Amino acid sequence: MHIVIDEKAGPCGGVKRVIKLAEQKLAAGEKIASRGEVIHNSVEISRLEKLGLKTAAEDSIKHIDDSGQPHKLLIRAHGATPAVFDEADRQGVEVIDGTCPVVTRSQKLARKYHEQGYQVVVVGKPKHPEVIAIVGHCDNQARVVHQETDIARLDTDRPTFVLAQTTIDENYFNTMLAAIARHVHIVEQRNTICAFVSNRKDQLRAFAAGCDVVLLVGGKNSSNTRVMFDDCRAVNPRSYWIETAADIELGWLEDDDTVGISGSASTPGWLLEQIAVELRRRFMR
Ligand code: SF4
Repeated sequence: MHIVIDEKAGPCGGVKRVIKLAEQKLAAGEKIASRGEVIHNSVEISRLEKLGLKTAAEDSIKHIDDSGQPHKLLIRAHGATPAVFDEADRQGVEVIDGTCPVVTRSQKLARKYHEQGYQVVVVGKPKHPEVIAIVGHCDNQARVVHQETDIARLDTDRPTFVLAQTTIDENYFNTMLAAIARHVHIVEQRNTICAFVSNRKDQLRAFAAGCDVVLLVGGKNSSNTRVMFDDCRAVNPRSYWIETAADIELGWLEDDDTVGISGSASTPGWLLEQIAVELRRRFMR
């Protein structure tokens, strides 16, 4: 068996940034709590929790530990609504803003069009934290289109601005855009899919096509991993989505396989190395 780690894999800039912020604050002895899971990767979260990071509920503002000490609130890369920042301010909770700059750009863009009177439409998942935050930046008046049936609910008469959740597939965005255009008069649209995500698509497909088996490492709750896994499967039916080495099944692998290991935007490089080591230990004796 030959094991190859995808040299293009590794966390995106937004994930690296929020992890670095958390590590710096924890190293300085600050008490911080992430508002929801800081990234979509349980193994990396465990590592950060060992350094002292607390994971608070998705709707948490003030997190107080057993000693009665309040924590600073870490906003993850997906961002948060203005109401969260206002409420934290009102409760005297210091906020550490880990919003990815690419997401901030989408929020500002959506807000700009909303303030100009446009109907703002976000193509993406309505319950995704990034989408909730963008809608919040439009005074909760932006509409979300996840599937074609959502389009019937749009206002056909208003000038409309369409943007994308940063981690969706580009073909899906274009399909939805065309469907929206048949229903409402689109005045403006912007493809706000993150360049990291769109550039990775071709790289990942090329990597997956060159392997016998692909192990894609990422959280099961990660939209980005779902898109990447679909890309792997499109070119290599022997692709498997795992979170840790414990998920790997013996029956997936043959002795003479080239096994490729890759990861999503929130998968740390050290985890890919760890899986390669474990793979060698379990299957190459
Ligand atoms: S995938 Fe892109 S938009 Fe999302 S956190 Fe990473 S860099 Fe930011």
